[in-house]
Amino acid sequence: MHEHSGGYGGGMGINSTSLSDLLAPTIRERKPSKMGLDVMGGYRRDSAVHLGDLPGDTPECCEPHEPTPHNSSIAGDNVGMVREESCSNLFDDLIQTEDTQPDKSEFEDKYALVGNGPLGEGTFGLVWRCTPKGKLKEVREDKEFAAKIVRKARLQPRDMKYLLGEDGEVKLHLTMKHPHICELLEYFDEPGTVTLILEYCRGGDLFDAIVAQSKTTGRGFTEKQAIIASKHVLSALQYLHRQKVVHRDIKCENILLKHTGIAVEDNIFKLCDFGFAAHDSGDGLSDRLGSPDTVAPEIVVGTKYSTPVDMWSAGVLVYMMLSATPPFYAPTDNEVLRKVKTGSYNLSGEPWDSLPKPPKDLIASLMTVDPKKRPSADEALSCGWLS
Ligand code: ADP
Ligand code: MG
Repeated sequence: MHEHSGGYGGGMGINSTSLSDLLAPTIRERKPSKMGLDVMGGYRRDSAVHLGDLPGDTPECCEPHEPTPHNSSIAGDNVGMVREESCSNLFDDLIQTEDTQPDKSEFEDKYALVGNGPLGEGTFGLVWRCTPKGKLKEVREDKEFAAKIVRKARLQPRDMKYLLGEDGEVKLHLTMKHPHICELLEYFDEPGTVTLILEYCRGGDLFDAIVAQSKTTGRGFTEKQAIIASKHVLSALQYLHRQKVVHRDIKCENILLKHTGIAVEDNIFKLCDFGFAAHDSGDGLSDRLGSPDTVAPEIVVGTKYSTPVDMWSAGVLVYMMLSATPPFYAPTDNEVLRKVKTGSYNLSGEPWDSLPKPPKDLIASLMTVDPKKRPSADEALSCGWLS
C-alpha cells in the first residue's frame, strides 16, 4: 500500500490535536453489531484507517467520532462486548443489484455464497463463505473459500488505490505465499464491488478464540497454546519483514484459525487482512494508522517507522493471549494512546505472577517503546520461550 500523502508529517505530536480526532475513522460506519458478544468484557475494535488526518480534513462520509468505550478486559469484568459492524447491509444490496442487473457478475458465475450470515465484518464490507461452481469445482483443491466483498461505494478514491493500486492490498496479498498467511487466490474487480477469494479459515479469529477460552476457564491461553499461536504469527511476520513489507494492523481480529473443532494448541494460525500493509523501500513509513490497542508508540508519536511496529503489536497479542486482557486499559481511546506512547502496561498481578519469566521477557522486549531495542521476528522466534 502506498504511503498516504494527506496525513500528518513526521514529528506531529499527539498534543497538537485531539487524539480522538486522530482515530476518527474516515470511511467506516460505527454501528452496534448484530453479533454482540455477551461475555467476559472486551470488545472488537475497528482499525482506524487514517489516524493521521487533520481534523477538518475529514471526508464528508465521516461520522463524528465518539470515543470508543474502553472496557477493561476480555476476561474478568462482565461488561458487554460489542462487535462494531462496518457494513451490515451489503448482502441485501448485492441481492438487489442482482435483480436489476442483466449481466451476472463473473464472481457470481464462478462462486456461490453459502451460509445464513457472514463469517466476519470488514472495514468496507462483509466476508462470506462461498463454494466454487461448475468447472471450477474440479479445478479447485478446496471446496470452500471466503469471499471478502468490498463495496466500492464505501471507498474514497484514495482507498480504491490502497485496495487495487500497484502496491495495494490485492496486489500485495496475491504475492504472499506462506503457511501462516491466509492465501488470496483471485479477485474480481466488478462495477459495484471488489471481491477477494481467500482460503477459508473455519476456526474463526484469535479474538473469538481468546474469548472462548476465557469463557470456559476464566483465563487466557495456556502457555502451550500461546507458544503455538505466537510462533505462527511471528513466522508470518518473519516472511513479510524479509520482503520489507509492514503489515501495520497486527491484531487479534486479523489472525485466523484454520480449523474448527480442533484444540487451539493443534490449530494453524494464519495472518489475514493486508488492507494496511505497505512496502518500506528504505525511507520508513509515516501514515498514522492502526488500532488503538495494538498500535506502536512511534506511530502515535508521529515519527517515521518500519517493521518494528508489527513486532510491538505481536507483543500486544502475546499479552492478550496469556491474560485475555488488553495491556492498555482506559475509558477512552485518547487515554489508551497516551498509555501506549509511554508504554504504561502491567506485567504484575495475575496471571503474570503465576507465569514463568520467559513469556514475560518476550512481551517486555517486544513491547519496548524504543523500536530499535525491539527484537526482530527472527530474534523473537529464537527467544528462550519459543525456541
Ligand atoms: P477488514 O480489512 O475490513 O478488517 P478482514 O480481512 O480482516 O477485513 O476480514 C474481516 C473479518 O472477517 C476477520 O476479522 C475474520 O473474522 C473474517 N475473515 C476474514 N477472512 C476470512 C477467511 N479467509 N476465513 C474466515 N474468516 C475470515
Ligand atoms: Mg481486519
